Amino acid sequence: MTNDQAICIRAIDYSETSQVATFFTRQTGKVTVIAKGAKRPRWPFGGPIEVFSCGRMVFSDSGRDKLATLVEFEPLAGVADSSVLAGDIFVLNCCLFAAELVNVLTKDYDPHPGLFDGLLQFFRDAGQPCPAPGGVLARLVLFQLELLREIGLYPVLERCVNCKNPFSVRWPEVYFSNSAKGLICRDCQGPFPDKIRLTQQGAKCLADLSAVAHRAKVDVKLLISAEDQTVRQVEDILIHYITDTLGRPPKMAKFILNP
Ligand SMILES: [Zn+2]
Repeated sequence: MTNDQAICIRAIDYSETSQVATFFTRQTGKVTVIAKGAKRPRWPFGGPIEVFSCGRMVFSDSGRDKLATLVEFEPLAGVADSSVLAGDIFVLNCCLFAAELVNVLTKDYDPHPGLFDGLLQFFRDAGQPCPAPGGVLARLVLFQLELLREIGLYPVLERCVNCKNPFSVRWPEVYFSNSAKGLICRDCQGPFPDKIRLTQQGAKCLADLSAVAHRAKVDVKLLISAEDQTVRQVEDILIHYITDTLGRPPKMAKFILNP
């Protein structure tokens, strides 16, 4: 038996009465469980398990090649209430996107306690007013950078990947290349056909965030001086990068790129 803090990141109906749910747990990482009887009226956990519900769970894993079995789950009220999030469809889509990314980019039983805390914070903050332009999108950008750092796929954002020159706003042209996994300067861009041109502001925003991200948790206030379209460009770059990493676009991506 394992007892852990958990956030539900995916839940599907399995039968008339049961669900298969994927939880991101703090100490154990991603775990997929069968919740037998979850849809029965007198299910002891208070109704079917919903995406974003968070609480303490107990599960038994007989072998890691099989589905674990949910034994107990006690959702905390008001952590990331899907009925609250549903009040703003774009906020809801951003939360579904964050949950999907954790599901597809982390491995089963690979714990990332810092990322767990980050995801929980993201869900808590998502529906709150945001001081930065782009609103929830600014928070999503920061969460994705945290995710990429946690799983070891953080792109190079402070210098040209190829010639190593540090990024400067005086660069006449700036590109991002998925295959290079980071920024490319004008002199080096030739051999990178997948490059995407960035605005100076977009590149500066990424470089600034990155400079801080190596030392400490990045606060959304860092994006206060950015412009709405810069936050959007940064998000688009991150989605393209993640799409390339996965080999396909995340299912929710189209709702984020074109809300
Ligand atoms: Zn270069």
